Amino acid sequence: MSQTLELPVSHVKGIGEHTQEMLSTLHIFTVRDLLEYYPFRHEDYAVRRLGEVNHEERVTVRGQVQSEPSVRFYGKKKSRLTVRVLVDGLLIQAVFFNQPYLKKQLSLGQEIVINGKWDQHRASISPAMMKPKKQTNEQGLEPVYSVKGDLKIATLRKFIHEAMGTYGNELEEILPEQLIQSYRLMPRKEAIHQLHFPNSPNDLKQAKRRMIYEELLLFQLKMQTYRKQERDQQKGETKKIPVHEVEAFIESLPFPLTGAQRRVKDEILVDITSNYRMNRLLQGDVGSGKTVIAAVALFAVVKAGFQGALMVPTEILAEQHLESLIDLLAPYNVNVRLLSGGAKIKERREILAQLEAGDIDILVGTHALIQEGVDFQNLGLVITDEQHRFGVEQRRILRKKGLHPDVLFMTATPIPRTLAISAFGDMDVSVIDEMPKGRKPIETYWAKPAMFERVLTFMQKELKQGRQAYVICPLIEESDKLDVQNAIDVHAQLSQGLPDVNVGLMHGRLTPDEKEEVMGQFADNDIQALVSTTVVEVGVNVPNATVMIIYDAERFGLSQLHQLRGRVGRGSEQSYCILLADPKSDTGKERMKIMTETNDGFELSERDLELRGPGDFFGRKQSGLPEFKVADLVQDYRVLEIARQDAAKLVQSEAFWKSQDYFHLRGWLEKQGILSLGRLD
Ligand code: ADP
Ligand code: MG
Repeated sequence: MSQTLELPVSHVKGIGEHTQEMLSTLHIFTVRDLLEYYPFRHEDYAVRRLGEVNHEERVTVRGQVQSEPSVRFYGKKKSRLTVRVLVDGLLIQAVFFNQPYLKKQLSLGQEIVINGKWDQHRASISPAMMKPKKQTNEQGLEPVYSVKGDLKIATLRKFIHEAMGTYGNELEEILPEQLIQSYRLMPRKEAIHQLHFPNSPNDLKQAKRRMIYEELLLFQLKMQTYRKQERDQQKGETKKIPVHEVEAFIESLPFPLTGAQRRVKDEILVDITSNYRMNRLLQGDVGSGKTVIAAVALFAVVKAGFQGALMVPTEILAEQHLESLIDLLAPYNVNVRLLSGGAKIKERREILAQLEAGDIDILVGTHALIQEGVDFQNLGLVITDEQHRFGVEQRRILRKKGLHPDVLFMTATPIPRTLAISAFGDMDVSVIDEMPKGRKPIETYWAKPAMFERVLTFMQKELKQGRQAYVICPLIEESDKLDVQNAIDVHAQLSQGLPDVNVGLMHGRLTPDEKEEVMGQFADNDIQALVSTTVVEVGVNVPNATVMIIYDAERFGLSQLHQLRGRVGRGSEQSYCILLADPKSDTGKERMKIMTETNDGFELSERDLELRGPGDFFGRKQSGLPEFKVADLVQDYRVLEIARQDAAKLVQSEAFWKSQDYFHLRGWLEKQGILSLGRLD
């Protein structure tokens, strides 16, 4: 690795202390960081003809001013300037926001070049930007970087240009010659140069192709190396599961397992008995019955003489799982305990002591379970539920503690199976693709907020028949505090409007004890209608609840709506989901429509993908998947698959670990902290 590239970014000419600070907020610290800070898209400023442009596409056009510009001011500093422009024989309207000074600069008959989003229905470009008539960049391709604070894109580009001139030559190739040859990849140095300063659309395409492959290959190498280490390190410790006892336990369940549940149960038990460590993803739509699979796996491990842990994202869910596990397992002398965030010091100490002594068989709790001060005597299995974030890094925490348990991840996040296999390259995947028998599909309705009275009447009717309801409160983005206030208001309103109904209140600001009490009352039907923020979003299981009312549904993403809806339809009664929404945008309306049309998480995710585009499909922050700079797991799915196969071959080959040709690749893995574990030799 080039040492020069690791110099602080302040070595680049023109970067002073202030700039250095601004760059650090973008995680740019070294010269290399700066050079490898790629644009997230390229704006094409080449002038085009309107006839070839699609609705809502960004475009640059040339035209003649045909009217006096008119400006309207609104708000404090806001303004809107409109002007008619003749473009390719078509009279269109250009709308400029907050640039009132343009009024003086635009005169009748003047030729201008504007860039902006084309609205075909309105024949307008809005918001529009003026562009100099002569493009500086011949191709009109201009990289767009994400910047923060005072840093301007143009300034950033200037520094990248400077750095490229001085240090660009130091950028080393990291892919082996043989891969570059066989895929005809652009050399790294050139590719990075082209990303920042493209010569032509085709060069840019080749540059992207190379960097996408590189990024996905490195990602896969990391996963596969990790997987290989896990398998190689095995000390041959297998668990002996008393098969008859497990079968008897399954027989005793209140319902027969579905075919899909049986299949995944077998896959999991095979892993547990094998001499490699289980690292498995269990996917199943909301309500498909993942919890009972967790119970079977935990039972098997405990009967094989080990302890188990069940990790969940919220205290509410921890509490609920504790109860289900006690119901199922206590009759078999399995000791299940909860490590709650709200536990008193004395109680906590007692639990930890019992855990270390091996008196507790299964510990349930949030992620704090695997952290400080929690020592198991003989941990054999860790299951995480709905914890999409629990990934490679957390598994390393386990390993650091000297723990090598089998690991099972359960999630309802619907990802096409093939994609899941590639994306989680280090995991095996099991899928529950069948719902328990006797479920009636949830009926979903979309109602305007003005119909709230009627919705309430409907809810009352269900409550009279002994059913229960959730009312999810208006969502105010990024403000937990305001969300809570909303819930409090709605609760007051409903309590008053429904005097003969016991209305409960749930939100994130309640203490763990309070939450437990409210959930307990709801589960026991002492509360009939539960007003709540989204804290009940995942996992909560109260089968007698048949009505889910969601305020402001247009503010939620499809997968979140699906999760919320999944809180009902868990028993044999007909369930209903009512979306109160008045979306203004077409996509918003489309989302509501999709919800009323399908109950299938996989179908929903596909349609979500169509609507949103691949960019934020996974909800990056949530999924635990790395953030890629150039690659997109969905769009570049084919490359991902190729990279996965290549990485697998590399990791298995002698040459990769010994030969000089792979020096830089190994260096990269080392930098990722994968090889430094020193377990591969
Ligand atoms: P999820 O997969 O969303 O975690 P749960 O495990 O909470 O779903 O199960 C949802 C409901 O379905 C629970 O009430 C559970 O008892 C019930 N259930 C699970 N498996 C079956 C089955 N094979 N037959 C009938 N009901 C089942
Ligand atoms: Mg669940």
